Amino acid sequence: MSERAPLPRREFLRRGAQLGSLAAGALAASLVLDDCGTRAGVSTTSSTTTTTALTPASATDWVRLASSLHGTLIQPSNPSYGVDRLLYNSKFVDLHPRAIAYCQSAEDVARCIAFASAHDLAFAARSGGHSYAGYSNSSGLVIDVSRLASINVDTHANTAHVGAGAQLIDVYNAIGSHDRLLPAGSCPTVGIAGLALGGGIGVFARRYGLTCDNIRSVTLVTADAHVVTADHHRHADLLWACRGGGGGNYGVVTSFEFDVHPMPEVTLFTLQYPWGAAASMLHAWHTWISAAPDELWSNCQLQSRGTYGFLAQVAGVYCGSSAELASALSPLRAAIATEPTYSFSGSEDYLRAMEIEAGCSGLTIAACHAAPKNPRGALSRTAYSAKSSYVDAPMTPSQISSLVSAVERLSIEAPNLGGGLAFDSYGGVINQVAPGETAFVHRDKLACIQASYSWSTFSSSLEIDAGAHWLSWLGADVFTPATGAYQNYIDSTLVDWQRAYYGSNLERLAKTKKKYDPENRFVFAQSIPRTL
Ligand SMILES: Cc1cc2nc3c(=O)[nH]c(=O)nc-3n(C[C@H](O)[C@H](O)[C@H](O)COP(=O)(O)OP(=O)(O)OC[C@H]3O[C@@H](n4cnc5c(N)ncnc54)[C@H](O)[C@@H]3O)c2cc1C
Repeated sequence: MSERAPLPRREFLRRGAQLGSLAAGALAASLVLDDCGTRAGVSTTSSTTTTTALTPASATDWVRLASSLHGTLIQPSNPSYGVDRLLYNSKFVDLHPRAIAYCQSAEDVARCIAFASAHDLAFAARSGGHSYAGYSNSSGLVIDVSRLASINVDTHANTAHVGAGAQLIDVYNAIGSHDRLLPAGSCPTVGIAGLALGGGIGVFARRYGLTCDNIRSVTLVTADAHVVTADHHRHADLLWACRGGGGGNYGVVTSFEFDVHPMPEVTLFTLQYPWGAAASMLHAWHTWISAAPDELWSNCQLQSRGTYGFLAQVAGVYCGSSAELASALSPLRAAIATEPTYSFSGSEDYLRAMEIEAGCSGLTIAACHAAPKNPRGALSRTAYSAKSSYVDAPMTPSQISSLVSAVERLSIEAPNLGGGLAFDSYGGVINQVAPGETAFVHRDKLACIQASYSWSTFSSSLEIDAGAHWLSWLGADVFTPATGAYQNYIDSTLVDWQRAYYGSNLERLAKTKKKYDPENRFVFAQSIPRTL
């Protein structure tokens, strides 16, 4: 296959500026490099050598962009703009992108990137819109991939092609209907792109790995508006970076090819304990998961729930029978040495298990989406803030008691807010991958802790402030920053976020960034830098 010569930057910008006047097909042919084209050396011309004047987009330019897209361009004058600009986290109220492009194809994405480059316009990719820090918003152009949501399963090859805008509940529904599974997260409305690019922890991760571990190839539009497919043979460095390097850094992904797995027997369980047993439950859980089989994934929660009181709970999913689960649970139950106040275990098929994990039990798939963007969706958006940290080894009694006290402190300082700590078990297949094998570096952890609190429109600003104060105190005084933080729980207040998210992979991520985005077009407050 011959290599296509890279477009000099000036020519690239010129074409971008002309974009509106070109027919869609002609534009695709002129800007889009086929999958086998090489990216080496593309657009390495530094911006200082560029002589093309970057002109702000005029009203006419926007009209031209709109007419060049197969999808839809929404501007502030459009009646649906008020809904289209929203993210999942309802605390982000001040979102005023210049426009939102609902892309229908990779070529649409390329047009948007070329347009943004030509007019020196900020942009951000958006899939499910769940970024904790709101990084899928932009003051310029939001490149929305939610219409790229097709899901095709090949049961012979055990692979699935998934559009970058598919939401998790639709991924589970489509892949599950072929008796296959993809390990991913639990929230039904999270977008596959943000989740997979930053890791993707979920109830099958100890058995089948993180979502990013199951990426075979990824198709994305890079900063020079080229469509590139990265796999183990082509652009292997880009594939590496897309397996945990975090969303929004290297290009706009339009689709993934994932490994999928034949469905195992699935058994769910929940054990709830009186709050007085919280410390012994957490202690027993840490010891228990250190020796748990890969088939067992679990999560431990310590929550303050306002007028509903405290919650101390271990829940999880076992790939196997109820009888095997019962024997796997018995050391945990014995070590806690307190009778649970609530106990459940039962076999479920995969889709039903994921609906339960997603909190969608009893809803149709259509209803298991968030309103108001999805008119048939029955789920609502939420306002929340969170921080994460990792657990390297079973905690000492004093660490455990300070975490239990931290949840009690939240209930005193913000008695009407819901919040607390959730521990997700790592280990198993997650930790069988070396830290440098993918960009996801957290491969020697026992668990990830997420501290969060949420509020509603009825919450007072005093209580919301108390929650924020609690979270920042916890991050500074209780968490151990050196253990790292999960890049998908992206945290705009984290100080040493580069090392916390990427550890020893940071240098390689920066090198890859310099190669594929030399002019730092994919930039936001916590984007991977080109140099350190
Ligand atoms: C309620 C809730 C539950 C969650 N549960 C889990 C869980 O169980 N497991 C887990 O691992 N994580 C979980 N997360 C975290 C989640 O993985 C991240 O918030 C993730 O980034 C969300 O992806 P998104 O596409 O929905 O978000 P977006 O806000 O759309 O995107 C997140 C980031 O990725 C970028 N991005 C989006 N689309 C693309 C694209 N096509 N190409 C390149 N970059 C892109 C954005 O610019 C942004 O920087 C949860 C989050 C929430 C809010």
